[in-house]
Amino acid sequence: MSSIPGSASPQVPGDYASFYQRSVEQPEAFWREQAALIEWQTPFQQACDYGRPPFAKWFVGGTTNLCHNAVDRHARDRGDQNALIWVSTEVKEERIYSFRELQREVERMAAILQAQGVGQGDRVLIYMPMIPEAAFAMLACARIGAIHSVVFGGFASVSLASRIDDASPKLIVSADAGSRSGKVVPYKHLLDEAIQLAKHKPQAVLMVDRGLAAFERVAGRDLDYAAQREQHKDAQVPCAWLESNAVSYTLYTSGTTGKPKGVQRDVGGYAVALAASMKHIYCGNAGETYFSTSDIGWVVGHSYIIYGPLIAGMATLMYEGLPTVPDAGIWWQLVERFKVTVMFSAPTAVRVLKKQDPAYLAKYDLSSLRALFLAGEPLDEPTATWIAQSLGRPIIDNYWQTETGWPILSIANGVEKKPSKFGSPGVAMYGYKVKLLNESTGEELTGANQKGVVAIEGPLPPGCLQTVWGDDARFVNTYWSSIPDKLVYSTFDWGIRDEDGYYYILGRTDDVINVAGHRLGTREIEESIASHPNVAEVAVVGVADALKGQVAMAFAVLKDASRAATEEGARQQEAEIMKRVDEQLGAVARPARVRFVSVLPKTRSGKLLRRAIQAVCEQRDPGDLTTIEDPTALQQIRSLVGG
Ligand code: AMP
Repeated sequence: MSSIPGSASPQVPGDYASFYQRSVEQPEAFWREQAALIEWQTPFQQACDYGRPPFAKWFVGGTTNLCHNAVDRHARDRGDQNALIWVSTEVKEERIYSFRELQREVERMAAILQAQGVGQGDRVLIYMPMIPEAAFAMLACARIGAIHSVVFGGFASVSLASRIDDASPKLIVSADAGSRSGKVVPYKHLLDEAIQLAKHKPQAVLMVDRGLAAFERVAGRDLDYAAQREQHKDAQVPCAWLESNAVSYTLYTSGTTGKPKGVQRDVGGYAVALAASMKHIYCGNAGETYFSTSDIGWVVGHSYIIYGPLIAGMATLMYEGLPTVPDAGIWWQLVERFKVTVMFSAPTAVRVLKKQDPAYLAKYDLSSLRALFLAGEPLDEPTATWIAQSLGRPIIDNYWQTETGWPILSIANGVEKKPSKFGSPGVAMYGYKVKLLNESTGEELTGANQKGVVAIEGPLPPGCLQTVWGDDARFVNTYWSSIPDKLVYSTFDWGIRDEDGYYYILGRTDDVINVAGHRLGTREIEESIASHPNVAEVAVVGVADALKGQVAMAFAVLKDASRAATEEGARQQEAEIMKRVDEQLGAVARPARVRFVSVLPKTRSGKLLRRAIQAVCEQRDPGDLTTIEDPTALQQIRSLVGG
């Protein structure tokens, strides 16, 4: 395992080992120090209360506010500096807000919410494209103590409806449309359908009209943002001082059931965790520019488009568009123009760029860029080498989850400069007691290069999920009960650790798949496909893909198999099923292929053998099949996929 070219920094004094040791052995003192990176209205009495494991409370008794730390304190200290830089290559528009201007916009948005009766603890669902108003809405919620729940704009009505029902928002903020590759993607009809499907009905829908797509307004429910903003133009809305453990937001993520989980985050712990990560891991400084290519609908968007960079006093660059339009140099052009110092993206995006002319990378002055961070899916060696060599800047992998909110594994170059290793996201980050455990015995694997489940001993550090929204039992049963006789958090990832403490992630232990860095539950996709009137049964698995990391493959048993008997018929059934998934869940969840079989591989007790299907699709040995009910089932799949 060699170092990534360009990422090996000279060894400087500093000692990550003792920094880490202190974080896990003296967490109270360690986190007290980190807490000084943010402003508190009232000091906390205790850094961590772990009196009711696995529920951890951070900075108990302290009051603070995420919006104050992200916006107001910088408006006060550096008001004229850039805070939000918005560039859309889709609609060919740009807007730049200083911290002072951002505060004004957030106050207006907060006033609109308050006028609709939204207050502390009320939920606001945000279903929006990548536009500044989405950031205003998130920060406005944080300002008044309302709980935001951002739903990725690429999700469709059924996904949205289940999230509306779970979050029961008082108000929804949305827009007429997004845009992808110059094509308008209307949102409003999906939102209206979702509200119709949902049992819970929001009192109001605040619509940002970009003038991209005409939409119907529901009288008495739908409000126009521009008119409301005008009405509250001079509003002054102070930050609500919230106890550190108040809920800041929920963010839905896929699991092994069809019902998405609302990852619930606090206020103070999250603010401290992000401030610390900006200093120790991302090494971003106030007055500089941060560019994350993610979307506000994902956790990276929450932590490292909105809150993290702003808390650090950096300008955040919010980009609406593709990495290849108008050409594959657009990101690097933005880096040069805005003197980006820290950039964050995903391996899939880099693989997309790898297919383009490499001259684009040499065209711009990237000397401001200190590092490119990549996360969300495994970073393969060829991709890491290519981007490191092409950029000539350090590439830093980081491994984490929606649940943790910030990296579990990475390199804390802000504490001690350390080399990265190919294929490894790095070492355990401060505060995380990372263990590798034997899946069936729970025994800790302490030797080098042993494969186990990546687990974290409680309490989870600040910034991690408090619980699953509205379902403490699900939090405990899902995350803390999978290892025998041990109350330990499971990441549901396999990993190994080498002799230097660097971890390697080897894929999921559950049925969650990762398509282009987006986490999808195979069960959700199966439920959508099974709702097609001619589908009797279906299995969805994730299959390795050179570009997207993984793609979803579906194998369905039809009620009336004769409809797929001819090649033409099968193609038509496949198209119909894909359309259904598009309409219900969104194109992001659409399987790469839907193939038809007469029987699915199952155990004699009826459990789907998803891992065996996946192995066959990837031309691997499916392993022990003594429990399979009908061995011809796998043969059918083998003959469809080849091998
Ligand atoms: P999400 O919650 O959508 O961010 O997905 C989290 C999952 O993505 C993890 O549990 C891993 O399976 C995978 N993942 C995230 N970052 C990395 C990384 N740097 N290397 C390998 N896998 C990753």
